[in-house]
Amino acid sequence: MGSATALNELIRRIGLNRQEIQQRCNLLNWQSSDAACLNAAADNMNTAQQTFTDRLYQHLEGFPGAAGVISDPVTQQRLKHSQQAYYQRLWRGPYNADYVDSRLRIGLIHQMAGIELKWYLAGYRLYLDEILAQLFDAHPNQALFASLLKAVFFDMTLAIDTYSAAQRKALEDSEARFARALRGANDGIWDWHLGHDRLYVSTRWAAMLGLDHDSLGESSASWFNRVHPEDLPGLRQAIEAHCNGRNAQLNHEYRMRSSTGDYLWVQARGVVETDASGQQRMAGSQSDISARKAIEEQLQHAARHDPLTGLGNRLRLDELLPQALQQLSHSGAREAALLFIDLDRFKLINDSLGHHCGDQVLIEISRRLAHCLRPGDHLCRFGGDEFVVLLTDLACAEDAEQVAQRMLDSLSLPLHLAGQTLVVSASIGITALQPSDASQDALQAADLALYQAKQAGKAQFARFSEALQVSAHYQLELESALGQALERDEFVLHYQPILRIEAQGTRFVGVEALLRWQRGSTLVPPLEFITSLEDSGQIIRVGDWVLSQACRQVRAWQLAGQPHLHCAVNLSSRQLLQENFVERLSEILRDSGLAASDLILEITESQLLEDSTATLITLRALATLGVRLALDDFGTGYSSLGYLKRFPLHILKVDRSFISGASQNAELTAISPAIIGLGQSLGLEVVAEGVERAEHLDFLRAQGCHMAQGYWFSRPLSAAELHQQFITPPDEPRPTCTSRASLEEPTEQ
Ligand code: C2E
Ligand code: CA
Ligand code: CA
Repeated sequence: MGSATALNELIRRIGLNRQEIQQRCNLLNWQSSDAACLNAAADNMNTAQQTFTDRLYQHLEGFPGAAGVISDPVTQQRLKHSQQAYYQRLWRGPYNADYVDSRLRIGLIHQMAGIELKWYLAGYRLYLDEILAQLFDAHPNQALFASLLKAVFFDMTLAIDTYSAAQRKALEDSEARFARALRGANDGIWDWHLGHDRLYVSTRWAAMLGLDHDSLGESSASWFNRVHPEDLPGLRQAIEAHCNGRNAQLNHEYRMRSSTGDYLWVQARGVVETDASGQQRMAGSQSDISARKAIEEQLQHAARHDPLTGLGNRLRLDELLPQALQQLSHSGAREAALLFIDLDRFKLINDSLGHHCGDQVLIEISRRLAHCLRPGDHLCRFGGDEFVVLLTDLACAEDAEQVAQRMLDSLSLPLHLAGQTLVVSASIGITALQPSDASQDALQAADLALYQAKQAGKAQFARFSEALQVSAHYQLELESALGQALERDEFVLHYQPILRIEAQGTRFVGVEALLRWQRGSTLVPPLEFITSLEDSGQIIRVGDWVLSQACRQVRAWQLAGQPHLHCAVNLSSRQLLQENFVERLSEILRDSGLAASDLILEITESQLLEDSTATLITLRALATLGVRLALDDFGTGYSSLGYLKRFPLHILKVDRSFISGASQNAELTAISPAIIGLGQSLGLEVVAEGVERAEHLDFLRAQGCHMAQGYWFSRPLSAAELHQQFITPPDEPRPTCTSRASLEEPTEQ
């Protein structure tokens, strides 16, 4: 600050306004006649004043402090000169605002020059003494008045002392209070003069950083040089935002380097002020917030990690994935991939060995998975038995498959836990990340690939592809339309004839009801929607519809001239596991009028395996009812004979691969007779599926197999078609089917 502006600032602070000046004049009982009086006598005082200045400087030279200030003769000359001007103005006036201002200025200049107040007052006393001599020379009371002046001036010095001491005390108290408050707040204080870049910091400010207050420089460099390089731009922006009025206050958190070189988190708060000269000055506090930050970090960490395995969780992945995708868009970035891992049949471990054991397995699995990764990769536990791996910086997308294979291999090693040996496996879906992907899309793609891996038989990985996406889309569409198919009456049954092989030709003895979905103009085959019906549970209602429809239809055909016609209906395991299935079936038979012995229920081996005790009970009840049971697709499963013997089976349906494949494949040619023989040796009726050619029929006849079904006889037909081709009125002869007309003119695509 320039000395002129400093003076102005001080004068402003003294706060002498017109009112105050007027009051002072009134207190002194100052009249205009006083001014006139002084003005008139002014000229007579010149000599006295001269003498006074000489005496004053002589007098002051006797005092060590004062002598130092006025020792230089040139300075002394200048001072004497202005002293005279000062006293001349006292006599001559004019006593206006400028008078007050010039007096104040002189006082301040003296104070700054180091002239003490007591010398100042001694000067006034000496002055009055000199004037006294001039005016009342040889007056009898002159000496008395001079003594009085001394006493009064002494008292004046005391009065000034008491007032200023009291003011100083108040100031000190307030400072002490302030200092105590600061010590209590444990905050460091700073005061920064932006224009001159002068920074004052408190001892506590320095101590917080382990620094010695006195060793710090006086510029803001001692602050900013210690700010963490990553945080410095942010701090500067915050300061600027406040200085430009965009923020009401500076309030910013950042890291500062301490004397040990470690960083600690601090929070700076401050406000800027602009002084009369337009200079900005900012002051505030700085607190150590490391402890709070540490807790925040702990909470952050806890929210983003799985407590069981210590791996990142879904939230963590939500952070990592967008980062990885963003990095992919940088030029020169290498490939990245996402792996979605799901343990196969983990529920079984949890249910049979308990959750504690399940947890141990998960910990071990996560350890093994982590072991297959490189340092930059990320493994997260997505939930339950699902893990997601983010692989970055891959040379090529195929590298992800190698990682997946390593994981599968590592998981396949037996796991020893609490005296048990477990074997776990997982399925993995892989997708290569594209910079344009949204996180959600990438996860969905990996999930879809995982689904594919599960579908393909688990314990393997599958890669995401466009085709997968298209088929998933189709599947989704299909499923939502499927939900309404029953209500909209879109299901239809087709019937495929089952024939008895006789010495001469064949005889039409039964039908297998096969479900179709009439979706607009397309007839959707069951393999495309049965699984969806099973997954959604709809199979229960649809299966019920199939049973009653088939029973009614076959009963109608029985009445129309095929009294011994039997009806085969495929069952899903979910139907069998229904509690009231047997009652419901009895109801259907009763309503349709079909004899229980004319109904065959077809089930597969895998259905038998699913919940054997419950299934067994139901199957026995069904057998008791008189319904016959057929084991469908026989030969494709793995069940042991002994196992099959437990179930009340009547019929084996040999899978068509053993029939239509037999003529081309030598191995099958050897196996097929064995399978047929096996069924017969168990005392079961054997039905051969997939008879497509005359040779197949010949082969069956040679093997002594009595029942057959296949395109050679007829494709599945609509009820009307079947009625027309196979059901004849009772008085007409029954058809024996040896033609292959229906193969040449298929009714289905
Ligand atoms: P499935 O029980 O093995 O039924 C026989 C399948 O073989 C039928 O296929 C039939 O059209 C086909 N087929 C018959 N003869 C020949 C032949 O000579 N050569 C060839 N290549 N195929 C032949 P579809 O109708 O597509 O049915 C497929 C599967 O869908 C059925 O296999 C069955 O498991 C299931 N399914 C059909 N209807 C129902 C139903 O109402 N309920 C349940 N749960 N499943 C059903
Ligand atoms: Ca079947
Ligand atoms: Ca079959």
